[in-house]
Amino acid sequence: MELFTRRHVLLGVSWVLGVLAGAGGALAGVRDVLAQTPPATAGPVDPKLIEDLVAANRILADQGVVDGYGHVSVRHEKSPDRYLMSRSIAPELVTAADIMEYDLDSVPVDARGRTSYLERFIHGEIYRVRPDVRAIVHNHSPSVIPFGVTGVPLRPLYHMSAFLSAGVPVFDIRQASGGMTDMLVRTAALGQALASTLGTRPVALMRGHGAVVVGASLPLVVFRSVYTEVNARLQSQAMALGGQVTYLDPEEARLAEASVSGTAPRPWELWKKKALAR
Ligand SMILES: [Zn+2]
Repeated sequence: MELFTRRHVLLGVSWVLGVLAGAGGALAGVRDVLAQTPPATAGPVDPKLIEDLVAANRILADQGVVDGYGHVSVRHEKSPDRYLMSRSIAPELVTAADIMEYDLDSVPVDARGRTSYLERFIHGEIYRVRPDVRAIVHNHSPSVIPFGVTGVPLRPLYHMSAFLSAGVPVFDIRQASGGMTDMLVRTAALGQALASTLGTRPVALMRGHGAVVVGASLPLVVFRSVYTEVNARLQSQAMALGGQVTYLDPEEARLAEASVSGTAPRPWELWKKKALAR
């Protein structure tokens, strides 16, 4: 059962031990050790996947989707309950040595003193409920922010962003948490709430914060992140002109996505070559 992870087992064991130990019992120490035991690795990863993940970080920075903040992850190729993501560092600076492995509770396998992104729960909790997703981007992509705070829906107005046709929900952390927060998805519960808002769609906005974008591969999630930002910019411009905006019809969007999504490797090849040349 996917939800019943090794860490849950360990936490369960440690809880039982804690109960048995009673107040101040000697087994409490054992419980603490078990609770801190890192998850096992799912094994080595193809260096090509690591290279693509490094490239994805730099491309997203090149394209203005991330700046000093934001992150991108990819699911482990050998185990669906592991994912890979950089340590807490600006995406443009990421190298292969910065990539860490996490379980779906977003616990690092081998931290070695490296710090993790506070909002890593976005990734673990979406991978847990979306078996179709193999790559995730979280960003503060500037042009999408107005659509998260005004109630104006983000909608596809050209063929490159046809994937937005399923609708772009807005996650409101105030509703999810039931109160005031620092706006960060810093717990598993908030990650689960965000995953629930996203549902089966490719993109969700986060009110007053940014967006999360998912896809079946790194090239596709990068493509979607770039064209979500571009669509948001173009939609603001189109609305500012004052006329009536004609968006893609759902059928146009379906046909366009079938054509365009297959071409995602083309810009990826260009973007990756430029990103890794530096
Ligand atoms: Zn964030």
